[in-house]
Amino acid sequence: MNRTQRASFVLERLREAIPRPETELDYGTEYELIVAVILSAQCTDARVNKVTPALFEAFPTVEALAEATPEQVYPFIRSVSYPNNKSKHLVGMAQMVCEDFEGAIPQEIKQLMKLPGVGRKTAQVVASVAFDVDALPVDTHVFRVANRIGLAKDAPTPLEVEKQLKRYIPQGDWGEAHHLLILHGRYTCTARRPKCEPCPLQTACVYFERLQALPEPLDGLDAKKGRYYCQTHDGYFNKPATHTDRYGVEQIACPTCGSMNVFEAKTGRTTKQVKDYRVN
Ligand code: SF4
Repeated sequence: MNRTQRASFVLERLREAIPRPETELDYGTEYELIVAVILSAQCTDARVNKVTPALFEAFPTVEALAEATPEQVYPFIRSVSYPNNKSKHLVGMAQMVCEDFEGAIPQEIKQLMKLPGVGRKTAQVVASVAFDVDALPVDTHVFRVANRIGLAKDAPTPLEVEKQLKRYIPQGDWGEAHHLLILHGRYTCTARRPKCEPCPLQTACVYFERLQALPEPLDGLDAKKGRYYCQTHDGYFNKPATHTDRYGVEQIACPTCGSMNVFEAKTGRTTKQVKDYRVN
């Protein structure tokens, strides 16, 4: 399966699994959307949705927010991450919208990125969701899922993931792909324990293929003889060496023979790790 086929397979399967691929942030207007997206950086949508009703009631328009001080905004958003910075960004964003854009949230990504608190991802989300601009914002979920599945190959940054995805996903599908990959990452291909068993993407997923290639657990190991067991030289040891594998992952290795064919003596599980992807 080449990457174009993989991308088309993934979109097809995710469309079946996720009938309403849209943002989970609650908002009514473009102003409310940009506020919610700024608040959602490094924070969950569920948490943001808890604070925005009171915030929007207190500051119902961009003009009202522009007249506020960060200290007045802070109590409404104290439970989201980085409330100090976000209070300043929200007020700064509202002031710039009023002064430079006549009170209307700008539609272009470049203009949006001039606003305080609005980086590339936030700008793309707002442009795509509010104004139907073709954009494919890459957040922590899209980054992880795209690399795991193999839609992106060893892409080290969100920008590189975005570039690679745009090569293989048709332009008209970018906005939808963004939501599908986010929701898949949030509920199925989760950061800590991806739910691979019920996942409809198994047959196209590079990460899953590598998981399947890991050795099965060994029976009958004796944890009294050592913390680890090296199958290659048939011996136990406590203090492991490390070795970097061909995917760049640091693996536990046998201090005697250097083999990475090592198992935890207590559980019998392999110590081999499949390369995974995180972004802050
Ligand atoms: S098979 Fe597992 S790793 Fe691959 S996309 Fe599905 S949940 Fe994620």
